[in-house]
Amino acid sequence: MSDFNDDQKNYLEGFVRGAELTLGSRGLATFAGTLGLNGAANGKPADAVPSGPDAVHFIAQNKQMAEGKKLCSQEEAKRKRHPLDMWDDMVKHAAEGKFPKGEDLLAFKYHGLFHVAPAQDSYMCRMRMPGGILTAHQFRGIAAIADDCGGGYTDVTTRANLQIREIPAARGPDVVLGLQDLGILICGSGADNIRNVTGSATAGIDPQELTDTRPLARAMHYHILHHREMYGLPRKFNIAFDGGGAISALEDTNDIGFTAVRVGEGKSVPAGVYFRLQLGGISGHKDFAKDEGVLLKPEECVPVADAVVKVFNENGDRTDRKKARLKYVLDRWGHAKYVEETEQKLGYKLTRFPLAECDPRPPVAKHGHMGVHPQKQPGLFYVGVLLPVGRLQTEQMHGLAEIAEKFGSGTIRLTVWQNLLISDIAGENIPEVKRRIEDLGLHWDASNVRGALVACTGKAGCKFAAAHTKQHATEIANYLEPRLTLDHPLNIHVTGCPNSCAQHYLGDIGLIGTGVEVGEEMVEGYHIFVGGGYGEEQHIGREVYRSVAATDAPLAIEQMLRAYLDHRASPDDSFN
Ligand code: SF4
Repeated sequence: MSDFNDDQKNYLEGFVRGAELTLGSRGLATFAGTLGLNGAANGKPADAVPSGPDAVHFIAQNKQMAEGKKLCSQEEAKRKRHPLDMWDDMVKHAAEGKFPKGEDLLAFKYHGLFHVAPAQDSYMCRMRMPGGILTAHQFRGIAAIADDCGGGYTDVTTRANLQIREIPAARGPDVVLGLQDLGILICGSGADNIRNVTGSATAGIDPQELTDTRPLARAMHYHILHHREMYGLPRKFNIAFDGGGAISALEDTNDIGFTAVRVGEGKSVPAGVYFRLQLGGISGHKDFAKDEGVLLKPEECVPVADAVVKVFNENGDRTDRKKARLKYVLDRWGHAKYVEETEQKLGYKLTRFPLAECDPRPPVAKHGHMGVHPQKQPGLFYVGVLLPVGRLQTEQMHGLAEIAEKFGSGTIRLTVWQNLLISDIAGENIPEVKRRIEDLGLHWDASNVRGALVACTGKAGCKFAAAHTKQHATEIANYLEPRLTLDHPLNIHVTGCPNSCAQHYLGDIGLIGTGVEVGEEMVEGYHIFVGGGYGEEQHIGREVYRSVAATDAPLAIEQMLRAYLDHRASPDDSFN
């Protein structure tokens, strides 16, 4: 072995790992001996090579190493130790008051803890809650944890999820355990894993929905948590279920988007409600998920997602992080081959059925997450609550939990628009609920400017950010609101870097942070896009202004909107 250079060693060690999976560890020992190799990659003894579910990413890594490629550093780290096996280290770090360093940073994210220095020298904890739906009891509990261990506030994310920030090193495990006590299991909420499974915010209460997505989001959530081979993917992965309700689940921006459709009588399949399978959405890379021409019964969705993920796990690029998402396997193979490989995993053929033969989706209400709406249950209503750029103080969380318990069923529904709904409120209680929401300093109604104002964490808490997105988004709305009256709902998305957590390409108006030279100074600013959309209005926004200082952005947007108001042919012309 000493005669080989590093690349040759890597290649041979990878080859040996592959052989171990075929020969078993005893056979491997003999085989390795014949090659003069006493251990596998990274100095681990050969008999420590994982088997079972953990073998999946080793096989994929070996395949790419055998092709002469070099794994990226994150994959090398996963190879040394499965990041799920970090709990003892996390407890030790906490006892010593230390944050993780180097490759441990990635591993801790598998457990939901992100050390977000230098933006904040503390942990951010990201949760997971299927479909974004949780109980008032859980909401209160999260607020208590944010008070005890964090900064006394939470952020609602664009995956209908919650984050606690400003957690000191010593309290990381306390947060994770506290959430588990509440039934909030966060394993895999960050890093190269399947993120929070989203669904329709109005699932089960929406008069127009085709189906209730809650059981599917829940089943998918627990399928991930109970299958270790669903962890350690080449890169992050998103799954969403849209049930056809008034509020879009933005499923076409997910790696897997399941969209409910109705098929009428007289077709080649029995009439009823099915799901369409869409693959490859990643709006930050300017791509929406594409319909695969496949019709699924609801009970097929989770097994199909399992198979799609397994194909990705085996074939995603583990050498280049920029090309590691599902989209790039689809680009390399074509969608037809990917579906065939998925069918091989499933062991049966999926039902091909043209999208055009399905009934059109019921309409989306663009700002349907705001205001008071009747439910399918007679006499009951849901109320949308506007959260300024997703931020909630813990006092407000306690107040909302009380409203949900006292006047509703104790259910709180987070939306991908960084707002929330309280459901199951009797009509006679609506005035009191509105009053209590306002007493908390929140709103149940909003202008067309503020109703879908989405902003990522930004520079205040994310090291990748080029600008203070939440602050600037608020300043834009504050500036526009008294100056302009819009008769169409407008979506404004402000994102801090190309990771595009706030999906700037989807907004009617989208901003992405950048440094801007003003004289001899470098200041925070944005490139500004217009014309993005999703669903029926699916479109990637196009850049109209480059390198605008953040202080000038409100005026630039005002001018764009005035031009629209002055030049549209009729009030029916949408901004897009
Ligand atoms: Fe951070 Fe970039 Fe995501 Fe904003 S878009 S939260 S800056 S990674």
